[in-house]
Amino acid sequence: MTEKPTFPQHRTSPKQLEDELQDLMLDEVRGHWSRSFRGPPDVQAVAEEAFNLFGSDNGLFSMRAEYLARIETEVTGMCAALFNSPEGGAGTLTSGGSESIFCALHAMREWARDHKPQATAPEVVMPYSAHPAFSKACHYLGLKVVRTPLGEDLRASPEQMAAAITPNTIGLVGSAPCWPYGLYDPIESLGALAEQNDLWLHVDACVGGYLAPFLERLGHRLPLWDFRVGAVKSISADLHKFGYCPKPASTVLWRSEDLLQYHYVHPSDWPGGMYSMRGFAGSRSAGPIFAAWAVLRYLGSDGYTKLAAQLWQKRRKLMDGINRIPGLHAWENDLLPIAFESRQVDLGLIKADLSRRGWILVGSAEPPLVNIPLDVATTDAIIEQFLDELAQAVELAGVSTMQAEKLEY
Ligand SMILES: *Cc1c(COP(=O)(O)O)cnc(C)c1O
Repeated sequence: MTEKPTFPQHRTSPKQLEDELQDLMLDEVRGHWSRSFRGPPDVQAVAEEAFNLFGSDNGLFSMRAEYLARIETEVTGMCAALFNSPEGGAGTLTSGGSESIFCALHAMREWARDHKPQATAPEVVMPYSAHPAFSKACHYLGLKVVRTPLGEDLRASPEQMAAAITPNTIGLVGSAPCWPYGLYDPIESLGALAEQNDLWLHVDACVGGYLAPFLERLGHRLPLWDFRVGAVKSISADLHKFGYCPKPASTVLWRSEDLLQYHYVHPSDWPGGMYSMRGFAGSRSAGPIFAAWAVLRYLGSDGYTKLAAQLWQKRRKLMDGINRIPGLHAWENDLLPIAFESRQVDLGLIKADLSRRGWILVGSAEPPLVNIPLDVATTDAIIEQFLDELAQAVELAGVSTMQAEKLEY
């Protein structure tokens, strides 16, 4: 039992603090998944320098201070261009996927007040696999979440989603790809559905957004998911995942300036006059904005494409290694994260054993899966040590699963 904290009476020496902080640091190898997503060391160094130089500047002023306005607009402009944004497309920088999703659903709700006044109790239809941030955002925004069963292939089922549309439906959501399975929803079919029913279509590319365009450049065939699908009105994409920018950094991309306007709230009912922010946050560090600007320009399309090729090799290596462990099977999904299952051993036991060793992993319950947030900073040494300890965890879990069976029968 830890003691109930009290507010410190006396100062603590920097040396003491440093020692305590060092003690808290995760193991360099086993803590790797907990630090996802990171670029290689040179990218981390570029990001860190920009982050530290501007970390104390206040991003709150990004609609007023010229230097902040310019840099933030350059970041969102670069990102919008990557997703085949049409002329007049726009972007918003946020603190993460959850905020991006919140902003997109808020704009969807405001748009629906203009375009779908008959929707008096607005509903958003999404596949079961959509990220929980959608449920959270809907809760805050007073929207009803309608999650529909997935198809046999575990992708969104356009038929199920069509059947869920009512006069109160204001929008649809699809993932590119979804987190638990790394599978793309059929965004083009959802686009057709959105057009037929005059609905807002949001694509959640939080995990895939800053990887897919570069894999496509390498010749990988992925389903269409971005603004090339005409019905897509907004996209969420996390810079702090495969954009390799330091947390917290994500983006919402809007098909047009008009749609972006539905995102803004400009309160002025207080003594300070008009209070306009680019995103949801008020005061925020400008560090992530400048770091994103630096990383995007440091890497450019060439750099990201090179990293995508490296990442794809690491993905293969890790998946092959998992498949060599008896009882485990890594899915051949569309992208990342890696998802593996086991028909023989209890994945809960494997995860618990790994986390005792310091490897923290999350997974899914339906079906039982473990996800690995592989990034390009993952070295061969990390992959090998992880596979080694995973094999040990599987062996132990196998023994206890067998014991449990014996006890049962
Ligand atoms: C990570 C992720 C989110 C949430 O992003 P945060 O940055 O963790 O808030 C939403 N959707 C998908 C598909 C994601 O992978």
